[in-house]
Amino acid sequence: MERTDEMNINSKAPEFEGRLRHICEVCGRTEILTPQEAFDEGWDYPPRMGSFGIVSPRTCPDCSMMDTAWAALTLEGKTPNELTERQKQTILRIVSEPESILVREEE
Ligand SMILES: [Zn+2]
Repeated sequence: MERTDEMNINSKAPEFEGRLRHICEVCGRTEILTPQEAFDEGWDYPPRMGSFGIVSPRTCPDCSMMDTAWAALTLEGKTPNELTERQKQTILRIVSEPESILVREEE
């Protein structure tokens, strides 16, 4: 019984079909795309690249992950207080994903 319940929960989870607001944290480019469209264009964005709510690069096809908040924290060893304003806002947006980037159908 327990096992069945667990499987039901899992089957509802990751495959995300709706459109998401893809915001490049480096250059600010913003596009509304499905995960598949974003992946095909080369965006680094969950759920295809990384996971919702977990800090990793959020970049468009033209920008480098070396300029991301993720790189500042993990590669450069900065503390959250040392991040730029834009990087701090990126972190806030990431931790409240996917709600923070969901697109309502009427948009
Ligand atoms: Zn960019």
